[in-house]
Amino acid sequence: MLTAICFDADDTLWHNERFFRMTQERFHDLLRDHADRNLLEARLLDAERRNIGRYGFGIKGFVLSMIETALEVTKNQVSGEVIAEILRTGQEMLAHPIELLPGAEETVRALAEGRTLLLVTKGDLLDQERKLAQSGLGEDFDGVEIVSDKSPRVYAGIFTGRGIASGEALMIGNSLKSDVNPVLEIGGWGVWVPHGETWALEAAREPIESPRYRRIEGLGELPDLVAEIERNI
Ligand SMILES: [Mg+2]
Repeated sequence: MLTAICFDADDTLWHNERFFRMTQERFHDLLRDHADRNLLEARLLDAERRNIGRYGFGIKGFVLSMIETALEVTKNQVSGEVIAEILRTGQEMLAHPIELLPGAEETVRALAEGRTLLLVTKGDLLDQERKLAQSGLGEDFDGVEIVSDKSPRVYAGIFTGRGIASGEALMIGNSLKSDVNPVLEIGGWGVWVPHGETWALEAAREPIESPRYRRIEGLGELPDLVAEIERNI
């Protein structure tokens, strides 16, 4: 029996990356006189990579990285209007309504019986709490872990703190790097549900050699997969 099923949130239960891409389009429009698309995207990605350790994951850090990039590509000449517009796009992202991915609600409810359901997500605390409340799924989870990083050590801490054996825990998410590989590394089950849009900094190799790794094409396949794993362990 799998005693704990853990879900990633962004781009696993609800759309997220698409809002970052839309904002990046507007960012590009605002700075099109100063940098071409490829250069701007590369500079922004560099800034995001530099800033993760400072600001963590989420929209606030993304906005600061856009401002830093705007200063960089304009050699500090960017106008106050453009900075104001960047701040406004960030505030719009923080206010966007939740769009659940297909099968999210049914899958979470189908697996709740007899198991501990956890939500494990990175990002801004306030924003993640808002999205969970808006998703209508808050009541279905036994616990919510909003963490600054998804490392094997962080997952081990979550499982140990709740008395969950890692061999009886399954984590599902759209990021191999953050949701799947670290859990496989500590002896848990890792399920990848790819999302067409995934942030470049989350790219990783598919761990096809691991016996506890599975891949599904949509959340709706998870209850059958859990049943199959439980028949065989
Ligand atoms: Mg995700």
